[in-house]
Amino acid sequence: MPVWKPEAYIDGKPLKPESLMMKYGYRPELSEGAIKCPVFLTSTFVFKSAEHGKSFFEVAYGLREKGPSEELGLIYSRLNNPDLEILEDRLKLWDNAEGCAVFQSGMAALTTTILEFARPGDLVLHSEPVYGGTDYLLKHILPRFGIEHQGFRAGASVAQIREQLAASGKLGALSFILIETPANPTNALVDIRALADLAAELSTPARRILVAVDNTFLGPLWQHPLKHGADLVVYSATKYIGGHSDIIAGVCLGSVELMQRVRTLRTIFGTITEPWSGWLLLRSLETLKLRMTCQMKNARYVANFLEDHPKVERVYYLGRLGEDHPDFELYRRQCLAPGAMISFDIVGGEAEAFRFLNALKLFQLAVSLGGTESLAEHPASMTHSDVSVADREWLGIGDRMVRLSVGVENPEDLVLDLERAFRAV
Ligand SMILES: *Cc1c(COP(=O)(O)O)cnc(C)c1O
Repeated sequence: MPVWKPEAYIDGKPLKPESLMMKYGYRPELSEGAIKCPVFLTSTFVFKSAEHGKSFFEVAYGLREKGPSEELGLIYSRLNNPDLEILEDRLKLWDNAEGCAVFQSGMAALTTTILEFARPGDLVLHSEPVYGGTDYLLKHILPRFGIEHQGFRAGASVAQIREQLAASGKLGALSFILIETPANPTNALVDIRALADLAAELSTPARRILVAVDNTFLGPLWQHPLKHGADLVVYSATKYIGGHSDIIAGVCLGSVELMQRVRTLRTIFGTITEPWSGWLLLRSLETLKLRMTCQMKNARYVANFLEDHPKVERVYYLGRLGEDHPDFELYRRQCLAPGAMISFDIVGGEAEAFRFLNALKLFQLAVSLGGTESLAEHPASMTHSDVSVADREWLGIGDRMVRLSVGVENPEDLVLDLERAFRAV
């Protein structure tokens, strides 16, 4: 169990993350009493003495263990920086994680993390579909380093996954499992606990198989993968964590031991983010719960409208899974709320979907998600256009599908916009 700094408790009771986003980990007395953490735009830090510098480097390079109350001294902004350390301390609270590292992008977080734990000859098992950049990394970049991949469809049972692995003959090479749940754009779920159990069962003393979850869609509020047995959680902080569609950033969280390794590779790759983005993320975290709660409620209102609309054939939304839906029980066990991503099939095909998208006024036509503004896009021709037609069919991504990221606008105005756009179809 992680232990927080003393200011995270009142009378021994831990405070909730949203209560701590304004000051946790920041000491005004070190910054002229400024109530907000300044932006530390500096590449390097002055040591008080040569002895201090020596001891900082000993810890940074793992030559000795950090003392129980010792903090890693500030050295150079490719290793650490006050804005980024405070940001990491605050991000740990949401996922109840011991360790955290922030990155220049979600892709930088994923690449650095996978390359730390997968070696030439290893197999990475992953759910499908995954984010386009992740898909490219797994299928085109990692093979250059001798790292193979195998995908399983979100929704497949563990028995099916095990069978698929056995049939590939590469079970002995498995070292890393990457899960993206809910899947984009179908909202199909992957059972984190079941895959963590499979990883534990297939691990040997010489080879520990790790499970990482890309938690961008529901986290850090509505799904906590570490609680369900995952070893690592990864985010594109560009989405809900940043929340204003104005920065690119990424995060990885996990145990102190695993994160020490990830942070060392981050230092060498130089994939840490810079102080200004870190500062913007600190500001975003103050309203994270407000924004995500509002977006979740707005999405519920929008989904209810879509369910009843005659021009909608099917809605893919976690908040209205019937008891007979295959993900019904898993949703209740794994997720705390349905989030704010909705996909739906419009009656017709690409032409109808395009007429609908072109008629929207309040929703903006753009990819990405999780920002304050509502967005709409066409997965088959945009975010998922480089997925083969056969794979799109296999994954259930049709030409009729439209994906919505619901923002913080007035929900009645959002429905007004959708209603009008349906009339234009
Ligand atoms: C956007 C996204 C990424 C990539 O993040 P960047 O910040 O754009 O590098 C990875 N995974 C998921 C699920 C995403 O939505």
